[in-house]
Amino acid sequence: MTSLTFFGGVKEIGGNKILLEDRKTRIFLDFGQSFSLLDDYFVPESYLSPRDRFGLRDYFEFGLIPKLNGLYSDEAIEHTDLKASEPGFDGVFISHAHFDHVAHLEYLHPGIPIYMGETAKKILDSNAETTSNRYFAEGAEIRQFRSGQEISVGDLKVTPIHVDHSVPGAYGFLVETSEGVVAYTGDLRQHGPRGDMTREFVQRAKEAEPEALIIEGTRVFDVEKRKNYSEESVKEESKKVIHESDRLVLAMRYPKDLDRFRTFHDIAKESGRKLVTSMKTAHLLQSLKDDPLGLSDPFKDKHIEVYCRKMKTYKKWEKPMMDDCVDSGYIHDNQKELIFELDFWQLTELVDVRPSGGECIHSMSEPFEEDPMSQVSDDVLENWLEHFGMRRHQLHASGHASKSEIFEIVKEIDAKKVFPVHTMNPGMFGVACRNTEVTEKGRKCEI
Ligand SMILES: [Zn+2]
Repeated sequence: MTSLTFFGGVKEIGGNKILLEDRKTRIFLDFGQSFSLLDDYFVPESYLSPRDRFGLRDYFEFGLIPKLNGLYSDEAIEHTDLKASEPGFDGVFISHAHFDHVAHLEYLHPGIPIYMGETAKKILDSNAETTSNRYFAEGAEIRQFRSGQEISVGDLKVTPIHVDHSVPGAYGFLVETSEGVVAYTGDLRQHGPRGDMTREFVQRAKEAEPEALIIEGTRVFDVEKRKNYSEESVKEESKKVIHESDRLVLAMRYPKDLDRFRTFHDIAKESGRKLVTSMKTAHLLQSLKDDPLGLSDPFKDKHIEVYCRKMKTYKKWEKPMMDDCVDSGYIHDNQKELIFELDFWQLTELVDVRPSGGECIHSMSEPFEEDPMSQVSDDVLENWLEHFGMRRHQLHASGHASKSEIFEIVKEIDAKKVFPVHTMNPGMFGVACRNTEVTEKGRKCEI
């Protein structure tokens, strides 16, 4: 008896929470929060949010998180009608360190081991130190793995295989069950700098002749309106922008996208500019300095400077960096020699920097039609750039494989059943792929 129950990632982007049960063993694949989870009942931007102090109480009220015995910590269920109990699950396997795959880990029963890649753990630890985010319950047991390592959990054998995605340390899984292999892609792409890793996963999955394939479909929609850039083409196009400019260049990217950091770092080296990055990124780079990723130490690399915002007080993690940082005056005085990485929420720094025009390489997704807030933010960005006389260049490579690539992967792996997740359009898989099962949230599917 082997089954899959999808508690998240169903007709939505992210929030994957996939329960795999085989005989007496029960594991979850990912434990995240979808980007739209709170949309029906909360507006966090207007401060209407679930009450942290009551753990999962507000989540249960609206069925936003599965109500299962033995899954959550005493603290998470203290203000709910679930009773405290022994852990009822054998493990939670995390594909990568993005919010939509890890956000609800903090509520888990500390007696349930969490398995994740070594790099993913370092990324989450750095993020927890530099933000108010919390990822693990008190006393949680984290077991770290590497690609290809076989992990026995009860009746199951789980093998993580690295894949390429827009954050380092991303994995898919092959799970050996009593009914055959279940393959899970996590999030993946082939057009990034390590497309070879994704190919390796697909190859291994194919060889395993899986009974079931659980596959992401972020970019499976009717019409692809966005440009299909690879990391390499982002680099080439950004290089052109920078070579033609004799003014300040702003670079905006997702904070955990270190491939994009490397792209900008490479361009800085080649163009003789310096890359100015945030303290948060500096902290992340330092946390990963012993990692095989081979990223630079921001304080030793002569092409990197770290930017310090003017604050009344500084956090403990910021203090050791402060002596080695540059400020807005430095950016103003050296505009032509810099690529300045700036997060959206730190645009106010431009008031101090006072750039004399320049370029902004927006290396992130364009606003989503389904998400009005992203349009609002985008309009605000436009206004800021116009105010400072800066030109915008949209140059971004997605973290996800395109629709045609996803369907090719499905064909190649050729599993007996295909379960689309992490997609708004699971129904579209059925047209292109045989044996697609469109799931409902919380419904158990036998394999
Ligand atoms: Zn995701």
